[in-house]
Amino acid sequence: FIMINICCSINVYWGGHMKNIVVLGSTGSIGTSALEVIKGLSNEYNVLGLSANRNLALILEQIEQFNPKFVSIGSNEDAEKIKKVYPNIEVYYGDEGLKKLGMLDETDILLTAVSGAIGIESTLEAIKREKRIALANKETMVAAGDLINKMLKEYKAEIIPVDSEHSALFQSLHGGKDGEVRKLILTASGGPFRTWDKEAIKDVKVEDALKHPNWSMGSKITIDSATLVNKGLEVIEAHQLFGIPYENIEVLVHPQSIVHSMVEFCDNSIIAQLGVPDMKLPIQYAFTYPERVCNYVLEGLDFVKSASTLTFEEVDNEKLKGIKLAIEAGKKGGTMPAVFNAANEVAVELFLKRKINFLDIYEVIEKAMEQHIVISGDNLENIKKADKEARDFA
Ligand code: NDP
Ligand code: MG
Repeated sequence: FIMINICCSINVYWGGHMKNIVVLGSTGSIGTSALEVIKGLSNEYNVLGLSANRNLALILEQIEQFNPKFVSIGSNEDAEKIKKVYPNIEVYYGDEGLKKLGMLDETDILLTAVSGAIGIESTLEAIKREKRIALANKETMVAAGDLINKMLKEYKAEIIPVDSEHSALFQSLHGGKDGEVRKLILTASGGPFRTWDKEAIKDVKVEDALKHPNWSMGSKITIDSATLVNKGLEVIEAHQLFGIPYENIEVLVHPQSIVHSMVEFCDNSIIAQLGVPDMKLPIQYAFTYPERVCNYVLEGLDFVKSASTLTFEEVDNEKLKGIKLAIEAGKKGGTMPAVFNAANEVAVELFLKRKINFLDIYEVIEKAMEQHIVISGDNLENIKKADKEARDFA
């Protein structure tokens, strides 16, 4: 007991290198959780940069609290406002500003927690500078996975997944060697419509789709969870991160979201990672890996109170087509995953603005994929072109 206690309380900076973290999307759900994690860690971790799009009020609070050297925000107008209050901060704006935050030499860890493919270029810049990337922004890995993997062969950067399923897979994969993996089992909560019948889903309202049973997240990913497009994006993300063929990636509905994902090895052993559904846990692991650091900001799992029943079901891929369409895009490869992602981003926005119905989201994606002629996805020009064409079409 004493040993454990000592280990948990001596979480201090020993005079080694201070770790500088840049948080892209600091005003979002992952971004704010990440800042809480950093607060709970020792003073070994420092916030070097923060980025927001529209939420000026919140980033001003965050600047006051974390004292970053670099900040990026959506508009020039807001950038000027920040400069007025904080003349010593380097303030950037727009897409170029976001990219610049990926280019800082002082960074140790870049947390990419913006929503959508807008995160690609910052990630590429950080790879070129051989940084650790704590990757929450799955759209980046989906749209640019081939390019990222090509660059990771050239540069000594590392990507540590933050997405809860991929963090679980990453941790579980430590239980065996590459050639010993039989399959990855991604768990899915099933979203708010798991128990709805197909007819009822035709008339779902934005409010229904925004009610996620277990996780509190940004609106885009919450809609993606309802369509199962999120799980589809995660299948592609897992394929790209771990190099496992689509045939060996299975999705299993697990409504309690306690088992975050599992790896089945060739001896039939299955290793899983469990915990409360709280993104602070995988965020911290991506920061501190390969260490596990005790942090009292994180909540523990009480099996008897909140996990006495863990259940698993098959996915209904006919009712909610998000996974099926994603695997189709993933198997076509090249620029098709970027098209799948871009069409979905636009469709979700249209749904949130009440311009299309819930099931139209699938139709937009399907049509965008049908008209796309696949080209190689291992260069930025092709990815950007495919992304733009799909957005215009959608
Ligand atoms: P949110 O919508 O809560 O936050 C998005 C963040 O990105 C905000 O800081 C927002 O700024 C910023 N942002 C949005 N658009 C732009 C833009 N065009 N340029 C610059 N910044 C922009 O999203 P989440 O935190 O929920 O998700 C972030 C990423 O993490 C997504 O890729 C998601 O799939 C992934 N993820 C999220 C999980 C979760 O639990 N939330 C779980 C696993 C993965 P502002 O608010 O100031 O406008
Ligand atoms: Mg996830």
